Amino acid sequence: MITDRELDKLIICKKCHKIHEVEQLEHGEIATCSYCGTTLYSCDKDSIKKAFALSLASMIFLILTNFFPLVQIDFLGSEQYVTIFKTMVTLSSEGFWFVALMVSVLIFISPIVIVMIHIMLFGLIYFKREKELARKLLIFLGYILPWHMSDIFLISILVALVKLIGFVQINIGIAFFSLVAFVIIDLYITRVMPMHTLWFNYQKVFEDE
Ligand SMILES: [Zn+2]
Repeated sequence: MITDRELDKLIICKKCHKIHEVEQLEHGEIATCSYCGTTLYSCDKDSIKKAFALSLASMIFLILTNFFPLVQIDFLGSEQYVTIFKTMVTLSSEGFWFVALMVSVLIFISPIVIVMIHIMLFGLIYFKREKELARKLLIFLGYILPWHMSDIFLISILVALVKLIGFVQINIGIAFFSLVAFVIIDLYITRVMPMHTLWFNYQKVFEDE
């Protein structure tokens, strides 16, 4: 029987599933898989600081994305501004409340919640405050991350735009560019700060005194 304490000292490579023993890293070091070379976890206070700054920037882009025009459509002489927020309101008032609910949860609420958790977590770990709150946020983040799909949302908008070209005249709005910026920053943060790296930095900061 392996105890929980012993399990905590093991980490599995996401790519090749080889099991490694977790070793203490010094500042700036990265642990890679001995078999396939994938990064397992890293210890870098600077990258926490960078992720903190980037998540603040991504919050600004996310607000622009939701409340500013995504596209402006010229159809039969009339101009229409499409914003994500307006689309959700229109969907629910037209009776498509289930679609409106799904849209608001997947592309409005969950990204905002995740970015807010990121900002708080990186801040708490960097400034070494509120250990218990940081732990709860980490657990909650693990539950909500699978519902995060802003990259898929961006691709579906691109597909819709390509289909509309030829029928109506489309002008790309500010929210579209901020959505692209948001998705790029978001992918970067989830790549450099996966859950196990977050947990590792949490333990390093709060538990190794
Ligand atoms: Zn591997």
